[in-house]
Amino acid sequence: MLPGPALAGPTEADWAAAVAAVRRLPTGARVLLVCHVNPDGDALGSMLGFGLGLRRLGVRQLQATFPGPPEVPEPLRWLPGLDLLVPAAEAYPDPDLVVCFDAASASRLGELADRLDTAGEALVLDHHASNTGFGRLHLVDPGAAATSVVAEELLGRLDVPLDAEIAACLYVALTTDTGSFRFEATTPAVHQLAARLLATGIRPGDISRQVFDTRPFGAVRLFGEVLGRAVLDCPAAAGHGLVWTYATMDDLVRHDQRPYVLESLIDSVRCTAEADVACVLKQVGPEEWAVSLRSKGAVDVSRVAMALGGGGHRFAAGFTGLGSAQKVLGRIRAELDGALITS
Ligand code: AMP
Ligand code: MN
Ligand code: MN
Repeated sequence: MLPGPALAGPTEADWAAAVAAVRRLPTGARVLLVCHVNPDGDALGSMLGFGLGLRRLGVRQLQATFPGPPEVPEPLRWLPGLDLLVPAAEAYPDPDLVVCFDAASASRLGELADRLDTAGEALVLDHHASNTGFGRLHLVDPGAAATSVVAEELLGRLDVPLDAEIAACLYVALTTDTGSFRFEATTPAVHQLAARLLATGIRPGDISRQVFDTRPFGAVRLFGEVLGRAVLDCPAAAGHGLVWTYATMDDLVRHDQRPYVLESLIDSVRCTAEADVACVLKQVGPEEWAVSLRSKGAVDVSRVAMALGGGGHRFAAGFTGLGSAQKVLGRIRAELDGALITS
């Protein structure tokens, strides 16, 4: 495990320091919110929900951004607060405060990582056990189901009441990272948070349909093709089994699809009963793959991902793999045996 903040989560002193950092912002202060590259529902939802909260507090010079192309995945393109977004190239070069969301390491902030040094203050909201402790003020809770859990508590401590717009953002974040309340991290506190969010009047059926249950027909066909080439490798992970597949940039072009449609592909692969570990390789360059790893419990895939330069959670992790798909897969196979959970 990399060194990082205590696994116990933020202390009262951490909360107080974060609250003070927001409260002491002078009138006209510039605040930059940043989330991780290829933002998912938790990254965007916690960032925009918190941003709307800051706006309610009277922060006017407020930007939200993320590294890489400024493209929001279609299923999230209705989120309240999208007007806060600016392309990374237009982000304040030296904000008074930078707040980072859902990034376990500075590298996940790409070209925006320099703001950790140029900003007057740097606050990190996250829930990855692998968080490296980057930034100056930390609200990192590995026990939290989503970064939005941390964001909601901070908003509460700042006396920002939840409204339907903030709640919609935080609800998307919460449902994304808990697999719609199916994963182990779904504690009573998660349901209590969901209850507070739903009490604002947001419509969970509409939100879930937009975020999880809507995709273009081309994506359905693309999934069919990619799932059709999935491989089951029963001896892998010391006999716990590995199921994997890959999608190339050419696949995306042929089906006229954007890369983010592949984000949910891992969910269709990981249901394979015969394998503890699921893996999807998504081509992002000629010899470059965004790799998603999932485990049902026998393997700590965050150890595999960290050993290969990435990070994540025990049962959901990822990294960037260089070389051919077979080469990247060979490296994963080699790491799997050593990542068995023995305790
Ligand atoms: P994904 O498979 O993209 O849904 O990501 C699963 C988990 O792994 C998330 O918690 C990510 O933050 C983390 N993760 C994915 N890719 C990387 C990467 N390249 N570096 C570090 N962490 C990653
Ligand atoms: Mn995320
Ligand atoms: Mn998250």
